[in-house]
Amino acid sequence: MVKKCSFVTAINCMDGRVQLPVINWLKENYQADYVDMITQSGPIKLLSENKEPGVVAAIKRCVEISVERHGSCLVAVVGHYDCAGNPVGKEEQLKQIAAAIEVVRGWGVAEKGVEVIGLWVDALGGQCCAGKVRLGQVGRVI
Ligand SMILES: [Zn+2]
Repeated sequence: MVKKCSFVTAINCMDGRVQLPVINWLKENYQADYVDMITQSGPIKLLSENKEPGVVAAIKRCVEISVERHGSCLVAVVGHYDCAGNPVGKEEQLKQIAAAIEVVRGWGVAEKGVEVIGLWVDALGGQCCAGKVRLGQVGRVI
């Protein structure tokens, strides 16, 4: 059951190819008006490995503001094809997404009724900017 809330939250990569696809997918699938975008380079690697506590704390702080101040009811944890900051294959990234979701749930958001999901942004045909793969095929994986 998809519920409507004005704000939703994405923990996304900083890669410029995945911003609009994730925003558009969340607006279409969750009827959100706004997407609070928390970006890092390869955030699912950072969250699942938990080797940089300062960075993880900064992500957590943004999630808390989004949930508590904006009333976000959904946090999407995003991985994508051809990630420069997390250059591992899809299977490994799906495991990272699952682990990252558990980390986010551990921040107490589930108790506030916030759903945590995993998204994967895949390649589109052809190339874009500087010969890089075009991205934009968004799907829910968890
Ligand atoms: Zn990336």
